[in-house]
Amino acid sequence: MTFDHDLKATVRTIPDYPKKGILFRDITTLLADARAFRRAVDELVQPWAGLKIDKVAGIEARGFILGGAVAHQVSAGFVPIRKKGKLPHTTVRIAYSLEYGLDEMEMHVDAIQPGERVILVDDLIATGGTAEGAVKLLRQIGANVVAACFIIDLPDLGGAAKLRAMDVPVRTLMAFEGH
Ligand code: AMP
Repeated sequence: MTFDHDLKATVRTIPDYPKKGILFRDITTLLADARAFRRAVDELVQPWAGLKIDKVAGIEARGFILGGAVAHQVSAGFVPIRKKGKLPHTTVRIAYSLEYGLDEMEMHVDAIQPGERVILVDDLIATGGTAEGAVKLLRQIGANVVAACFIIDLPDLGGAAKLRAMDVPVRTLMAFEGH
């Protein structure tokens, strides 16, 4: 598909970053391309265009850039999900699995009201550990997670399937084989 090809061509791949064997999918080149950035945001929100969305939750740090644009597009508020210790007010926190060991993410306890309709945004879904943690955190404070959106899917790592198994509809714009 032309669209997929065009957008995919704006993502830069850096081999062996941050460590040997990883193909790092760098979206800074997509973000720097005005048409690609607009197109990515338009396409991410397309299935939810007619629906009422209260909040967009973005995962630190690339999810902030995309999430801010998505929130603007759907006329929703933006809520940051951050690494622990960064948010100034009272937070809720959850541990989530990384490739090696655990980390923790937080959001403000009053960032979302119970029952509010929320879209989760990040740049890429791999194993789904990060997004799974974010969905659990959102649900912990009563959010209705309507969808999760990512520019890039690494389907071989199973993250999108993991979210769908949690009853979260997943939207991705392109896929890369492997990890
Ligand atoms: P995961 O929790 O395994 O789904 O990893 C997702 C998070 O790690 C996202 O915030 C991505 O930005 C980052 N990430 C994982 N793998 C890659 C990759 N190959 N290239 C760029 N970012 C990645």
